[in-house]
Amino acid sequence: MLTRFAPSPTGYLHLGHAYSALTAFDMTRAKGGDFILRIEDIDHTRCRPPYEWTIYEDLEWLGLEWPKPVLRQSEHLPDYAEALERLRSMGVLYADHKTRKGEAEAALSAPQGESVTNGAGANPAWRLSLEAARDVLGSRYDTLSFMEKGEVRKTDPAINGDVILGRKDIGVAYHLCVVIDDARQGISHVVRGHDLYDATHTQVLLQALLDLPTPAYHHHALLLDAEGRRLAKRKGSKSLRDYREEGLSQADIKAMLTATAKG
Ligand code: GLU
Repeated sequence: MLTRFAPSPTGYLHLGHAYSALTAFDMTRAKGGDFILRIEDIDHTRCRPPYEWTIYEDLEWLGLEWPKPVLRQSEHLPDYAEALERLRSMGVLYADHKTRKGEAEAALSAPQGESVTNGAGANPAWRLSLEAARDVLGSRYDTLSFMEKGEVRKTDPAINGDVILGRKDIGVAYHLCVVIDDARQGISHVVRGHDLYDATHTQVLLQALLDLPTPAYHHHALLLDAEGRRLAKRKGSKSLRDYREEGLSQADIKAMLTATAKG
């Protein structure tokens, strides 16, 4: 069993990240498996080195261990470009020269913030055509599935529509990179927050198109604050670094997580 924690260094980690990382780490260790850390830093417009350094400090402080050096996606951009090219030559991508404002805003709430500039630009965004994917996979398209917490779930890529796999600004995009790396690193179990559950439908389709294995998935419940809002780094919730600087211990964080976790 091999799990991973794959943060993006676009901000400091918060309690929700600690919960994800510890859940993945503890599940794997309990089964004698391994845990790796992957840095998802394809978005040079939002990733910053101090955030990355702090990820290492925070996770070490939490008592996690992982093999080094870690895979940093920014060092593997040609691999993602190659996969994108492969999909393009299969005929499942189409160029989108005019991503609309509303879509660009919606995309910013995606994990990697699929930000795009408005209007026609030099580089189009490249979208996955579900219709073309269905043509390529034939009847297999309708039978794709994945294991979620040990139960079979049927895949429904339509819930995400024709997602962007090649962003205008950076050329690649989250869904593609994550699928390439989960496969190349031999991840057997993806343990991550429920906010990424829907993404799985698209990712399983990409695995089928690229002949990659589909790992088992476990999307854990999200931590909520006292007002019932999701703890997210963008909403000004306290970072792990803040807690660390206040002198809290790993045990204090674990106790807070146990008190907050909903399942
Ligand atoms: N890098 C993504 C994030 O920061 C997570 C990717 C994943 O776990 O699949 O939210």
